[in-house]
Amino acid sequence: MGKVLVIGAGGVGSVAVHKMAMNSGIFSEIVLASRTVSKCEAIAASVKQRTGVTVPTHAIDADDVAATTALIEQVKPDLVVNLALPYQDLSIMDACLNAGVHYMDTANYEPKDVAKFEYHWQWAYQDRFRDAGLMALLGSGFDPGVTSVFAMWLKKHKLKTIRLLDILDCNGGDHGQAFATNFNPEINIREVTAPARHWENGEFVETPAMGVKQTFGFEEVGEKTMYMMYHEELESLARFVPEMERARFWMTFGEEYIKHLTVLQNVGMTRIDPVMYEGREIIPLQFLKAVLPEPSSLGETTKGKTNIGDIATGEALDGSGEKTFYIKNICDHEKAYEETGNQAVSYTTGVPAMIGAAMILTGKWKGEGVFNMEQFDPDPFMEMLNEHGLPWSVEELDGPLPF
Ligand code: NDP
Repeated sequence: MGKVLVIGAGGVGSVAVHKMAMNSGIFSEIVLASRTVSKCEAIAASVKQRTGVTVPTHAIDADDVAATTALIEQVKPDLVVNLALPYQDLSIMDACLNAGVHYMDTANYEPKDVAKFEYHWQWAYQDRFRDAGLMALLGSGFDPGVTSVFAMWLKKHKLKTIRLLDILDCNGGDHGQAFATNFNPEINIREVTAPARHWENGEFVETPAMGVKQTFGFEEVGEKTMYMMYHEELESLARFVPEMERARFWMTFGEEYIKHLTVLQNVGMTRIDPVMYEGREIIPLQFLKAVLPEPSSLGETTKGKTNIGDIATGEALDGSGEKTFYIKNICDHEKAYEETGNQAVSYTTGVPAMIGAAMILTGKWKGEGVFNMEQFDPDPFMEMLNEHGLPWSVEELDGPLPF
């Protein structure tokens, strides 16, 4: 049905390409390009062995708009799926505009020198995409991505309005290492060390990083401490669900993780400004990434489950007063690894990336301009989650979170 060019050969790229190859009715041709071509080749070899599908590979530096434009013109895909890092979002969007091809990603643009997670850089492309008759879909991972689709599904099928929203992201997996991150360490640590922000009464309220914590019992995982932090879907949710009184994002972290991160932060290893070392500039956080385990190497040893979902309270659609619903997915690290060779954090992002791409290629989601996940019908996306490895459940709770 359509040809796709995937850029980025990390854990998320690997899962997405495997899942696309398993759905060759939609993804008739898949091409994979990334900075290090040997990583593309390793993924292509695994895809060939698991599914029989051949994935041609290319080396590309996606910071280079001219080279990326030339690659897109050479490959001639219907859609470019950006699974490189958030730093490359704008250059790949520019290349898509130059080559006249639709665009999709899983994380919003971030400049390298400030840890700012904001959509305005990408929303500013609205007129250029619309005028070119092209579509850009932003944030089709799990969070952002599925968490917004979950909220919109509740708004379509259960609640007339959403007054309170809490997004709860729990990774109950254990990789057996003293300290490691489950996705790109640089992006992960920038996110976790940034001040927390939540939406309340029409504005974002900022609090110190990791300053608010609560305990919550996660199904199939157990009791965990979760920390309030900023996450980018809060911005698009606040825009597209304007009636929300409050929206918060919570993520679980173990004591060991917090202990290591605190020390690393205190000694300056998480800094993103350049420091001079033996006559050359280095960025401490980038150096730290180089000495930490590659997230893709953790798949083999990670055991346990992820549990990510939304708790939404609002006026019930059936007129029965205020109701609270909890909608979530639970994903098993070992099963994810068995299927694609990657652990559940990459799996829960790569599958929605495949589904977002399928929405565009099948025309189930279409438009001209730059779009967030909240702007489309959640139903076909939710159906594909159930069919392709991320089944979800919804239950009614007695009321909102007590804190
Ligand atoms: P990885 O670091 O594992 O992979 C990133 C890949 O991008 C690597 O193959 C890397 O190449 C490649 N890359 C980096 N810079 C360039 C460049 N200039 N040109 C071409 N390729 C480049 O990250 P993940 O797979 O874990 O994450 C991928 C994306 O998914 C990120 O944007 C991340 O923020 C996002 N994400 C989203 C989530 C969600 O739920 N929405 C959750 C988790 C991740 P090389 O191997 O040479 O370094």
